[in-house]
Amino acid sequence: MSLKELNLIWLEGQDCAGDTISIKQASNPTLIDVVTGAIPGLGGLKLVYHPTLMFEWGEDAAKVLIDAMEGKYDPFVLILEGAIPEEAKATPGVYCVVGEYKERILMLSEVIDSLAKRCAIAIAVGNCASYGGPPRAHPNPTGAQGLLGYLGKGWKGALGLPVICISGCPPRPDNIVQVIGHAVLAGRGVAPLPELDEWHRPVYLYGHTIHEICPLCGFYSGGVDAHKFGETGCLGALGCKGPITNCNAASIWMDGYGGCTKTGVPCFGCADPSFPDPPTSPFFAKPPMSPFITETVKGMWGHIKMGFARLKRRKI
Ligand code: SF4
Ligand code: SF4
Repeated sequence: MSLKELNLIWLEGQDCAGDTISIKQASNPTLIDVVTGAIPGLGGLKLVYHPTLMFEWGEDAAKVLIDAMEGKYDPFVLILEGAIPEEAKATPGVYCVVGEYKERILMLSEVIDSLAKRCAIAIAVGNCASYGGPPRAHPNPTGAQGLLGYLGKGWKGALGLPVICISGCPPRPDNIVQVIGHAVLAGRGVAPLPELDEWHRPVYLYGHTIHEICPLCGFYSGGVDAHKFGETGCLGALGCKGPITNCNAASIWMDGYGGCTKTGVPCFGCADPSFPDPPTSPFFAKPPMSPFITETVKGMWGHIKMGFARLKRRKI
């Protein structure tokens, strides 16, 4: 399969377009850099379908999807934003229509079933697309699920790559463009596929909890909790789910600005596969005590070892 020219097909399912809004803020690189080939190795990409950003609308837009299902845009990267309802499993009904062409109704699940058989790479952007997110929240009346559950952890695209998930509600703008770019480079054989965790997220982005990289961690270690919004201190008593959520928002948001706990907002676990069901909710309820206890014990032991190591340290 020649990947010199590679199309991008971005579908929106049960979503709020928040990931689209997020990717438009990316600055390192920008979305424009990626689709105009300004990044070495990423030339030849064409965004042929994106319901929010494309010029075509109505039947013209639906025709692009029909053509894609018939192979006109091979090879392509399938990017999904939003969850996939499973009409057959849920109360009979139609829950996500993505277009209509000559009286043919295109349901998201039908389009995914078809495109998943042809796509070179599949990427789920955001928690809804990755694991179902808010549309999948209990009691999940539409049978919503993410691409990972829908296609299965063993699924592989035409290039042998599994579904790649970029979790978050929404994920950080730069993370989205970087992962899409990285996946394309991996597909072209220019770079290795980033190592993925058990939830198919790149470990280099999701390998740490927010708590481990939080700028407020000094207050946590010093035992200083904030008890009201705006107060100085760790946000744990206000319901922060940082200790149980893998996310890099504290180190990267936009141009180094922002990040939830950095701006005084407790993490509500939007990058966790459980979101928004427990244990990441209720959002402002205190998180489970077990990570706090484990970490306190580990921390005490770690500090004792650190102290001995420092005592023995060679004088400079
Ligand atoms: S604010 Fe949250 S992430 Fe930051 S130190 Fe406190 S508990 Fe951890
Ligand atoms: S810090 Fe928490 S709430 Fe903020 S983006 Fe990360 S997972 Fe979501």
